[in-house]
Amino acid sequence: MASSQPRIGVLALQGDVREHEHMLQQCGALTLRVRTPEDLESVEALVIPGGESSTMSLLARTSGLLEPLRARVAGGMPAYGSCAGMIMLADRILDGRSDQQTIGGIDMTVRRNAFGRQIDSFEADLHLPTLEGPAMHGIFIRAPWVEQVGESVEVIGRVEGGPAAGRIVAVRQNVLLATAFHPELTGDLRVHRHFVEIVRGQS
Ligand code: GLN
Repeated sequence: MASSQPRIGVLALQGDVREHEHMLQQCGALTLRVRTPEDLESVEALVIPGGESSTMSLLARTSGLLEPLRARVAGGMPAYGSCAGMIMLADRILDGRSDQQTIGGIDMTVRRNAFGRQIDSFEADLHLPTLEGPAMHGIFIRAPWVEQVGESVEVIGRVEGGPAAGRIVAVRQNVLLATAFHPELTGDLRVHRHFVEIVRGQS
């Protein structure tokens, strides 16, 4: 049974861990850094930060976390990944390093560094109908996009203008949530609040 103050882990191998912790705490969650399989056992949900997915993949393997992470996600643990975290939650990736592995869980194909050199980092307003209120300001930093999704994946956000218009950048599959952008860098709590509601079984 999910408690009202859920214990949410932040995968702390690499990336913008502190920013996610700060957001989650403002949404009423207890946070814990996950670096070992033992840490993982003590949390009921997990956030996978932005950073560098190939490094995260390597560190997940060397720290013995990759298989436990796969098992927890396959077993129904809620998880939210931003940017590199989105890549880690993808069942399939394109343009990964040859030895790069993911945790998987979301039936999608994600292309790393998809936006290309011209617009590799940019900001854009996004309308996410799942989240009430005004447009969300999305920060994209060498971000991936989602190239293909399976039937059970709900597309919750797309790029709205420019050369990448229509590209999928936010998805949900049951208790798994992923965004190509970084809400942890804007202070807009809506994505994290939505995730905490998922963890509480309220969404
Ligand atoms: N390009 C990075 C990767 O492949 C993701 C960038 C990010 O998380 N801001 O993992």
